Amino acid sequence: MSNPYDTLGVAKNASADEIKKAYRKLARESHPDASGGDEARFKEIQGAYDVLSDPEKRKQYDTFGSTNGRGGAGGPAGAQFQDFDLSDLFGGLFGGGAARGGGARRGPQPERGADLQTEVHISFEDALAGVQVPVRANVETACHTCGGSGAEPGTAPIVCPVCNGRGITSDSHGLFALSQPCPRCRGNGTMVEHPCKTCRGSGRERVQKTYQVKIPAGAKDGTRIRLKGRGEPGRGGGPTGDLYVVARVASSPLYERRGDDLVVDVPVSYADAALGAKVEVATPEGPISLKVPAGSQPGKLLKVKGRGAPRLKGGGKGDLLARLRLDVPEKMSKQERELLEELRKVSR
Ligand SMILES: [Zn+2]
Ligand SMILES: [Zn+2]
Repeated sequence: MSNPYDTLGVAKNASADEIKKAYRKLARESHPDASGGDEARFKEIQGAYDVLSDPEKRKQYDTFGSTNGRGGAGGPAGAQFQDFDLSDLFGGLFGGGAARGGGARRGPQPERGADLQTEVHISFEDALAGVQVPVRANVETACHTCGGSGAEPGTAPIVCPVCNGRGITSDSHGLFALSQPCPRCRGNGTMVEHPCKTCRGSGRERVQKTYQVKIPAGAKDGTRIRLKGRGEPGRGGGPTGDLYVVARVASSPLYERRGDDLVVDVPVSYADAALGAKVEVATPEGPISLKVPAGSQPGKLLKVKGRGAPRLKGGGKGDLLARLRLDVPEKMSKQERELLEELRKVSR
């Protein structure tokens, strides 16, 4: 290690106060988050202060020219080089909690872009079969005029004169310094003197983008599809948000959806329900023949396995549930009427 006195720029007989003062000044200047900061230098300063701020270690260094524990004096070997938490130190320097929430950092903290949500309307049949649809979304992008700087073309943002580009201002209160985002540049460190006319200095504008989105077979009303990274751009180098596309599925005049099952009404006559019959039932893949057992009651559900909607998860399909509906004729032929009258007599 280099000479800690040289690192802090203090004399060999410097007082604890002088050492602390020199350390605070240098640490602040070289902090990786400060303008012109240098992490290697910062660590070196921290290491030097670690030695000189501890009377035991300082004595050991003065005696041996190192703190490597030669002779066993002082703490365990190497303890002085243990990892330290940059944010803890920073918080201590600039006032407790200042580093939290990004207030004490230079420039804006990386912030993930917002998620966007949009709806797409599809037919019942398309939802069952799966379909590719164009989805439009209003997405924030860098302003096309200024390229995102917010400054009128031909001009450039200037370094903030209040915080000198650091993005923070701090007031000293004895041992502690309170820091807050610079009110003038709102923590950016730079300011726009001549705002771009297109975006009024925000550097951003909204544009309509169209994406081709694949709605999976079996999508339900309300199914959300995530388009990763198609949301709002992040700030300060943060990642882009996502775009969620919500499928709005039209209802069907034929089918009722119950999860992955489809319910379809099947009208049957009294005679077919009572005697049993083969009836034709609609399915998404075309009509099939279904056996109605003798004595079936109205409302009974007859299950046709694997003829429902495709499952979004796990593959396969739900079932088709044929719901028997008693079909009572509004008009009858003379013969039908006579036979029914006969039936009524015998079944009393
Ligand atoms: Zn602009
Ligand atoms: Zn400023």
